[in-house]
Amino acid sequence: MPDTTLPNSWDARAKAASFFGFTDLPSIEERGTIVVTHGDGPYVVDTDGNRYLDANSGLWNMVAGFDHPALTKAAQDQYARFPGYHAFFGRISDQAVMLSETLVQVSPFETGQVFYTNSGSEANDTMVKMLWFLHAAEGHPEKRKILTRGNAYHGVTAVSASMTGKPYNSVFGLPLPGFLHLTCPHYWREGRAGECEADFVARLAAELEKVIAREGADTIAGFFAEPVMGAGGVIPPAEGYFDAILPILRAHGIPVISDEVICGFGRTGAVWGCESYGFTPDAIISSKALTAGYFPMGAVILGPELTDRLGRATRAIEEFPHGFTASGHPVGSAIALAAIDLILNGGLIDNVRRLTQAFEAGLARLADHPHIGEWRGRGLMGALEAVRDKATKTPFEGHLSVSERIANTCTDHGLICRPLGQSIVLCPPFILTDDQMGEMFTKLEAALAQVFDEIA
Ligand SMILES: *Cc1c(COP(=O)(O)O)cnc(C)c1O
Repeated sequence: MPDTTLPNSWDARAKAASFFGFTDLPSIEERGTIVVTHGDGPYVVDTDGNRYLDANSGLWNMVAGFDHPALTKAAQDQYARFPGYHAFFGRISDQAVMLSETLVQVSPFETGQVFYTNSGSEANDTMVKMLWFLHAAEGHPEKRKILTRGNAYHGVTAVSASMTGKPYNSVFGLPLPGFLHLTCPHYWREGRAGECEADFVARLAAELEKVIAREGADTIAGFFAEPVMGAGGVIPPAEGYFDAILPILRAHGIPVISDEVICGFGRTGAVWGCESYGFTPDAIISSKALTAGYFPMGAVILGPELTDRLGRATRAIEEFPHGFTASGHPVGSAIALAAIDLILNGGLIDNVRRLTQAFEAGLARLADHPHIGEWRGRGLMGALEAVRDKATKTPFEGHLSVSERIANTCTDHGLICRPLGQSIVLCPPFILTDDQMGEMFTKLEAALAQVFDEIA
């Protein structure tokens, strides 16, 4: 064990001058930080030379692994050509123009337009501002409320955190007023005793009708949903969920936004998560795999109707007063073009589809364990949920921090996976080989056995 108490250790330096977000401070006090220097395919390597198979693709985004030559070359070439520009005042880089064309082409939309941000949070924030702006311009300034679901994750800016359906945002006094959270469509956890899946979906559809009736459709600006909830713990919707709720939203003229920050570009096995669930939204929010994590970038991809309506609203006041300094960055755009090509034409999405069956089989096998209540997933994103009692779905006592212990034990064995609630999340890079998938499940199985042995 390296001495982490030395003031000049990487760990001490990391703790002294870096403010960590989404990090449990007692556990880094106890276990130390991991300072990573580089990667090798789906592995990352720390300052002590330890190698970890990163079964979370960084944060869902490094889908091509950590050293893909096509992406580093795209970045180097573009830095040499033109290292930075904006997209204000009618000036825009050629790379951003090409990326917009490509995004519309690979989107489910016949026509559309793209607006760039630096993150998924900013893309959701931008979309909300677009809806507020649009409805006001069309004579409905009171049409401002935003519908999302419990457990949803839409980001961390004040608006996108308000959309996020997690209790931790109460420390910021969020959500802001007017952000309403519907029931999470997780049948295994939210379904009532004796309620079949179809009845559960009917109950959620009725809830949506009730909320719209209570609030008034003329006060609701839009509905945002991740096709599969990611940071909520990998939650695919109950069977028939989108088919049941989308007609209600449409009937009330409420725009539907698919937050594809995780699902987009292949994670579910289709290009878009909405394709996996058979619906076409009014706009798509993209980030994460958009650049395979090689550049911070987000995008709002507007479908034809919102493109037209927003265009009209903008022309009426001559400009849409919104944008980020680095929006449409040429290096990010060049990397995104290379990443999209790699995912769609270079075999990455094919590999997701090829691996899905073995991935699901591996999850299902581990879910035989008496302390795994459920496995769930879609494509190459999956979760195992730990329970004290499988029959009653009773969770482990919170103070046992069961999922954190499992994840920490995995880390000790060279596997990075993420605890979310009482679940362990797996979302490996799309370049994973069969052997690496085997390594992932072997290490996870050993960690599960060890931790359940200790606490059960
Ligand atoms: C990660 C994520 C975001 C936020 O993206 P950031 O780049 O972290 O701001 C938004 N929506 C979903 C579905 C995400 O998974």
